[in-house]
Amino acid sequence: MGKQEDFVLRALEERDVRFVRLWFTDVLGFLKSVAVAPAELEGAFDEGIGFDGSAIEGFARVFEADMLAKPDPSTFQILPWRSEGPSTARMFCDIVMPDGSPSYADPRFVLKRTLSVAADRGFTFYTHPEIEFYLFKDTPSAGEEPVPVDRSGYFDHTAQSMGADFRREAITMLEQMGISVEFSHHEGGPGQQEIDLRYADALSTADNIMTFRTVIREVALNQGIWASFMPKPFTTHPGSGMHTHVSLFEGDTNAFYEAGAEYQLSRTGRSFIAGVLKHAAEITCVTNQWVNSYKRLIGGGEAPSYVCWGHNNRSAMVRVPMYKPNKGQSTRVELRTIDAACNPYLAFAVILAAGLKGIDEGYELPREAEDDVWSLSERERTALGIEPLPKNLNDAIGVAERSELLAETLGEHVYDFFLRNKRAEWEEYRGQVSAFERDRMLPVI
Ligand code: GLN
Ligand code: MG
Ligand code: MG
Ligand code: MG
Repeated sequence: MGKQEDFVLRALEERDVRFVRLWFTDVLGFLKSVAVAPAELEGAFDEGIGFDGSAIEGFARVFEADMLAKPDPSTFQILPWRSEGPSTARMFCDIVMPDGSPSYADPRFVLKRTLSVAADRGFTFYTHPEIEFYLFKDTPSAGEEPVPVDRSGYFDHTAQSMGADFRREAITMLEQMGISVEFSHHEGGPGQQEIDLRYADALSTADNIMTFRTVIREVALNQGIWASFMPKPFTTHPGSGMHTHVSLFEGDTNAFYEAGAEYQLSRTGRSFIAGVLKHAAEITCVTNQWVNSYKRLIGGGEAPSYVCWGHNNRSAMVRVPMYKPNKGQSTRVELRTIDAACNPYLAFAVILAAGLKGIDEGYELPREAEDDVWSLSERERTALGIEPLPKNLNDAIGVAERSELLAETLGEHVYDFFLRNKRAEWEEYRGQVSAFERDRMLPVI
């Protein structure tokens, strides 16, 4: 038993913990939880807790269903929304097979494997997500348009606003769970909020995003409202994205930084962006995994629709943020496609893999997009070599099915399951008759 495990076992007694929730994530990014009594934990650290993998979305075929959840002691936290009486704690788990080998179906393992590819090259991958979501007055009911909690907009400061109270309670809870929040504000849509997490290594950030989604929904329920990370809940209001700032470090040095270079961006940084752009279409079905995700990427609402990069250009898919002289260590690039309804482990893995590919192969960065790419004509964009992102889930799956990078990064099992599942989602959606069609057609034909 290591030091961290000892620490956890001691904390269980000191904090009067009665239940420990073991958390892990299915392939589609939904959080799974099994509660164990503290007495079970020593065994869980040694061997893991058994469960039926075939009952989890994307985990196993029926004939190899037995799997084990092994808690990662560095992720031990008391759940702050269960503060009365004896406490409840949680730990994220790695999923292992009965012979102790990692499960190829575990998204956390997919990310770890890609992080180790980066580590082989001397890199640590850092991410900083800006998470957007809507707050609605009620729990959703089928067929009804949700009602936002307010009518405010970007950065609005409204007296006695629901959103501000909400953000305050949510951020307090996140901080209690060791998740640092850097900024928070009202976003562009009515009831829409943004909370930005402090940058951390990508595995911690992915764990933090899973916790974040849970905390936000718990706090909303406590306040009698409903929170949703759905990428585009309204036709006429902006969608919710999860812009993610990324950087690679070599030890304590930011590998994207080069003093005196254009935008302080090193060759490594430029090739990383080039990799993300070149493979953008292939990885979009992972960073934007739902039918609904593509309604956000339609143009406008500050969500990207074209594969390009720019400096302070909010129509670009990759943006190099304004830099501050003497702050080389904070050099980073912002990816604006990804939404918060993704599986963060898989999404970070494919982004990193695309960037590393750019570095390994020495890709050249295409010309920067200086214009608002939405206002250019199709012909102007073509002349500039600016390609569209996949326009819907079907297009995204089509490119993904031909992607070696994706197959390699996700591993055969996750790749196959994921694409099959997404195909099925598309096929089901394809046959839906919508209000849009009825409203257009019934009156005239
Ligand atoms: N909501 C926008 C999106 O979907 C982003 C708005 C912003 O942060 N500037 O990406
Ligand atoms: Mg922001
Ligand atoms: Mg925002
Ligand atoms: Mg942003």
